[in-house]
Amino acid sequence: MMLPFNIPPHIGKEIEYIKVAIENQKICGDGDFTKKCNQWFESKFKTCKVLLTTSCTHALEMASFLCDIQPGDEVIMPSYTFVSTADAFVLRGAKIIFVDIRPDTMNIDENLIEAAITKKTKAIVPVHYAGVACEMDKIMEIANKYNLYVIEDAAQGVMSKYKGQALGTIGDFGCYSFHETKNYSMGEGGALLIRDEKMIEKAEIIREKGTNRSKFFRGQIDKYTWIDWGSSYLPSEINAAYLWAQLEEADLINKNRIQSWDLYYNGLRPLSEEGYIDLPHVPKGCVHNAHMFYIKTKNLKERSELIEILKSSGILSVFHYIPLHTSPAGQKFGEMFGKDNHTTSESERLLRLPMYYNLNAKDILKVIEDIKLFYLSLGDK
Ligand SMILES: *Cc1c(COP(=O)(O)O)cnc(C)c1O
Repeated sequence: MMLPFNIPPHIGKEIEYIKVAIENQKICGDGDFTKKCNQWFESKFKTCKVLLTTSCTHALEMASFLCDIQPGDEVIMPSYTFVSTADAFVLRGAKIIFVDIRPDTMNIDENLIEAAITKKTKAIVPVHYAGVACEMDKIMEIANKYNLYVIEDAAQGVMSKYKGQALGTIGDFGCYSFHETKNYSMGEGGALLIRDEKMIEKAEIIREKGTNRSKFFRGQIDKYTWIDWGSSYLPSEINAAYLWAQLEEADLINKNRIQSWDLYYNGLRPLSEEGYIDLPHVPKGCVHNAHMFYIKTKNLKERSELIEILKSSGILSVFHYIPLHTSPAGQKFGEMFGKDNHTTSESERLLRLPMYYNLNAKDILKVIEDIKLFYLSLGDK
């Protein structure tokens, strides 16, 4: 028996709601389930507008359109992130300026951003790694000073908070992911969060192939037409129905994940206190959502050995993010600003342990035990 790294969240009512969508004879986008999901986020997270999208990648693309990114514009982001964070802006012709991360949270180092700003800088894209918030006060202060857009990549941050505010609602735009590896899922999907009312109409037009069909469906106009450029970013009701089943139980899912996270943290704390590994850090003012649990080994070699040991014991652990500035596309479309003091070295130490809704406590204890045995055996050498 293998302990998987991830199991897509499934709460129980998904099939029932998908059946309702089929019986309602409405399976394309923007039906009842999509509206319910949008409104749930708007009221729970107190933001002006939320639009479900076909992915977080597409929500980022929409934000890139809405910020009117032009060829040659510069966009600042961490190099330690998923490719979509950069891709969305590269598609508009932007040059990506990668900034080093803080080793404690793996988030962009807010103190390095200001020096990376030039006349061409148009936006800052903080990525809330593992659902732990970036230092948004400082980032918003810099953005206001230089009149830059802030697009939060909150793909991993649904239900997390920074000083009481939901992640994704602080910057001009926020982007969520409901991919099957995320805390709440619809298979493939995402959402765009819009802070300012004046952006809503443009966003609706972009999402509906450049037409004002959203207005038409609300009865605000009697026929719809082609207004501007756009694409198709609205997900099917079948996917939205799946997500709705999970949003209804969002607190339950969140609590369950936090329990697993705490179990890992407390069980591994002795190893961290003895200096064998590092554990995740959640700064004051941040409420996280237990999107992932990771440890940091001494170095790359030790990580590879631990992965093999865990695998031989039936446990799947994974690492991720080859720093974007070292990738072929990253070198073509961007560059690292300043030194890579932490991005590469910290990324080589990070190891993600199994984490999903309803992960068995017994399995977590087994993972902890195996990691302890691994370090015990190192001590003997
Ligand atoms: C998952 C993820 C994405 C992409 O989400 P999709 O919904 O698969 O497009 C983007 N950024 C980060 C940080 C992610 O973790």
